Amino acid sequence: MPVAPFIYCVRSRSGGSVNSVSGLSIEAQRRIEELREVLRQGVRRRAPRADVALREEEAGGATRMAIELQNADSSDENCVLDGVSEALAEHIVANLGPDLMHRVLRRNYSYFDPDEREQILEYARSEAPHPGIVRSLARRFADYLEQNSALNLEGFLTFRLKDYVADLERSVDAAVDEFMLDREYREFVRLLRYFVDVQVPKTPSVHVLLAESGRFEICDEGMHALPGEFAADFRYASEDGEVNLDDLLVSSLITAAPAEIVIHAREAALELASVRTVRQVFGERLRTCTGCSACEPVRDFRV
Ligand SMILES: [Zn+2]
Repeated sequence: MPVAPFIYCVRSRSGGSVNSVSGLSIEAQRRIEELREVLRQGVRRRAPRADVALREEEAGGATRMAIELQNADSSDENCVLDGVSEALAEHIVANLGPDLMHRVLRRNYSYFDPDEREQILEYARSEAPHPGIVRSLARRFADYLEQNSALNLEGFLTFRLKDYVADLERSVDAAVDEFMLDREYREFVRLLRYFVDVQVPKTPSVHVLLAESGRFEICDEGMHALPGEFAADFRYASEDGEVNLDDLLVSSLITAAPAEIVIHAREAALELASVRTVRQVFGERLRTCTGCSACEPVRDFRV
């Protein structure tokens, strides 16, 4: 027989009938308003007909919320327990988890200013959360509340959800890495852009034949492949998949120093990161073409 979830249970006699009050108590220090709201919603959703009262009291710097049921049967109690467990899981994912990431960021990466920290948290938030996380946390709360009628939320997070906390810490680290890479990229683009702006064009235009793989060929105005370093670069790129084709395309174009660039490519290839970089570096000097008489015969070139 399973252990009764609602351990604290008071029975009193008044006028011949027996009144019983059973309940759960949740203690928390932070985000009390949000906790109160999710608990209300969770209980109402799962146990709409149960006679439930939410009572609060201060308990040594924390707030204790008592969820009390009047004359409830075990089915009501189970519904309330499910509602409370779900509410606590939602509260962790929506409020306490993000707060914790904030604290981790402040503690481990104090050299970022508040604005940068906010951007980093945006990166962390934009990562899709594990789809079953609320359900899995709710299960763990329910398992605990089936055995214990009182739960301290911060303590539960620290001692019983260590794996979840570790996941959040990892996602902060990953967001910092991503933020740094993006910042380096923006700096790289800014320098190249400056370089291109002050550079005197060596030729009116060049044509880039770009394959969806990212491989490319640079041609002159007559659609003849450029000789020398461009051909050499291209052969190198064809043979060695390790070469960063984005960097190679941008550096080849900077060496060619054209006044105008036309990239001939299929639509999908125009989405490549290399095109994004060329567009950011060369700005209005770039035109794109997805099918013209000049590029049609060479579109399926060997790359
Ligand atoms: Zn074309």
